[in-house]
Amino acid sequence: MSKRHQTKPAGTGRSDRLPASRREVLLGGAAVASTALIGFGGGATLPRPALAKAPTAQTLKLGNFEITVVSDGHLMMPARLAAPDVPDAERNAALAQGGQSGGEMAKPPTNVTLIKTGDDVILIDAGSGPNFMPTAGKLSANLDAAGIDPDSITKVVFTHGHPDHLWGVLDDFEEEARFANATHLIGANEWDYWFSEDAEKGLPADRATFVPAARRRITAIEGKAQRIKAGDEIIPGLSVFDTPGHTQGHLSLQLTAGGDNLVVLGDALIHPIISFEHPDWRPAADHVPEQAVETRKKLLEKLVAEKSRVIGYHLPFPGIGRVEKKDGAYAYVAAG
Ligand SMILES: [Zn+2]
Repeated sequence: MSKRHQTKPAGTGRSDRLPASRREVLLGGAAVASTALIGFGGGATLPRPALAKAPTAQTLKLGNFEITVVSDGHLMMPARLAAPDVPDAERNAALAQGGQSGGEMAKPPTNVTLIKTGDDVILIDAGSGPNFMPTAGKLSANLDAAGIDPDSITKVVFTHGHPDHLWGVLDDFEEEARFANATHLIGANEWDYWFSEDAEKGLPADRATFVPAARRRITAIEGKAQRIKAGDEIIPGLSVFDTPGHTQGHLSLQLTAGGDNLVVLGDALIHPIISFEHPDWRPAADHVPEQAVETRKKLLEKLVAEKSRVIGYHLPFPGIGRVEKKDGAYAYVAAG
């Protein structure tokens, strides 16, 4: 469909051009590519330093799985919402550790994970789509730049139903499923929460509009959707487990291959300092704050015990790293 290609810059139809995902490839956690082959009008290709433009896709391997993190852009939100009920001085000190100022807008990235193995191409969350924030909704363009055809995606798995994870499920006209050939897998608890009579009472008051918006999108893809629950295997080696609190039915995914573990966190851990070093602080975005605290503590302990790699949807792009114990709490250690 032509609209899928309209974001391509002129000249990218050349068959000898490397897809963007190859330029910024990460293999086994180490950055290996720093140059790109750029095509010129005369047909020659010359090595040049990597483009100054921020990367929008990175790839790593786990056994037979090829995992690519593709950017959907970023959100804009007041930095204080990372822990609004913590005294300003404490919160600002934690934000400063992550290079943020407490008074400014935070720009958390939105990192969408794509897992390829055999015939399956599995997308985890669908990004924001065109109508949430102007800085987000870049997934289609970045999939295209990485050489990934949306029609090749066989499954879309949702961690939860917030706009930055769900709203991109429909095309730019908000009518048809963007990933036309995919089965859409939604946690049964999450599905039931958004359709429950008192759903609006279960989320922060300024977010009441999220309820009809989530219902409309889930209804639009219902014919292509299946309900899943903790313990279900999406494909051999990839399963989901409960991480409730951020939303009532939030799921994370665990990928196991050749003795290695990788957990796709969704929004169970969202901030590179606060979620790890202060897991009992309460971000404004959590629907059930006490449950989210409990989930974070359990999850952090599991990630350390299993020496898991993690991919965080809102951790600094590409959001790939590990968790270590630090001073009675934890620390996020970015890969590479
Ligand atoms: Zn999110």
